[in-house]
Amino acid sequence: MLSPPGRLLRLLLAALAALWSRLAPSGLWLCQARRPGLARGRAPRADGDGAARRRRGPVPLSVNYHFTRRCNYTCGFCFHTARTSFVLPLEEAERGLRLLKAAGMEKINFSGGEPFLHQRGEFVGKLVQFCKQELKLPSVSIVSNGSMIKERWFKHYGKYLDILAVSCDSFCEEVNVLIGRGQGKRNHVENLQKLKKWCQNYGVAFKINSVINRFNVEEDMNEQITALNPVRWKVFQCLLIEGENTGEDALREAERFVISDEEFERFLQRHKDVSCLVPECNQKMRNSYLILDEYMRFLNCVNGRKEPSRSILDVGVEDAIQFSGFDEKMFFKRGGKYIWSKADMALEW
Ligand code: SF4
Repeated sequence: MLSPPGRLLRLLLAALAALWSRLAPSGLWLCQARRPGLARGRAPRADGDGAARRRRGPVPLSVNYHFTRRCNYTCGFCFHTARTSFVLPLEEAERGLRLLKAAGMEKINFSGGEPFLHQRGEFVGKLVQFCKQELKLPSVSIVSNGSMIKERWFKHYGKYLDILAVSCDSFCEEVNVLIGRGQGKRNHVENLQKLKKWCQNYGVAFKINSVINRFNVEEDMNEQITALNPVRWKVFQCLLIEGENTGEDALREAERFVISDEEFERFLQRHKDVSCLVPECNQKMRNSYLILDEYMRFLNCVNGRKEPSRSILDVGVEDAIQFSGFDEKMFFKRGGKYIWSKADMALEW
């Protein structure tokens, strides 16, 4: 049995313990609130310090940054149309790319619009150099319609670029005119050959992208693609996106370009002997790309239209990516991860 002073001491200790258990959580929260990025209700710091915490959402392994929506062509099925002419300042774009690298990005693809339109290719050139030289990304690529690229661009920036993908939907000028990619006096095949030659001379992997639609679905491209011999020939089924190429507020009406799954399959069968062909039907395509728009917002296509997240520049990658609608499983299933660094490719054309 305790003496009166002992009982008093025990009561005092119990009261102190009760007080501590009530105050400790708010004290801890106050400590955290003094550290930026850890305060309750705030986004994680946009500099990658969240990496130590448990990651929420997918890793942005491969990102498509559509930094501009402007284009010199008017393809009728375009699903990233010129709804704005906004382009981020270079420093802000680089800041966003740093955040993506800190979040796990290994491949960046610059797309548009037409990437070589803004500052005549200087802007995309600087981004490509930054991603390879500063961020040391394993893979840096561009998708372009190929109409504005000059050899001097390759001289400056070719060494920093892993893959150049050039869009080519037809080898027939009348079909290109119908699609909205008429070359005028220029010969599309000759232009492709010239680009391929520059890629070869400056050590860049040459890729071709084709969108199969109502006007080219019957075409036989075996001979031309075999002669051009790209490292990959990506063949997409024409896709409808509400608000971009279909619907009331869209800038295009792509319904007349759409083909059925069976028609797409027949096109693939006709070209089954082209070993570099990589097919992508609507189902594989819709949610398996991480798309960043000109404000660096992820675009979520789950509901058939591009719904933007908040910008990674404002809330960080981890928060923004929650709203991307990205189907990581489908990304791997469609072969989204492949040998994408030119250092690992046997570049022989
Ligand atoms: S070249 Fe590409 S970005 Fe330009 S209009 Fe055609 S599909 Fe759209």
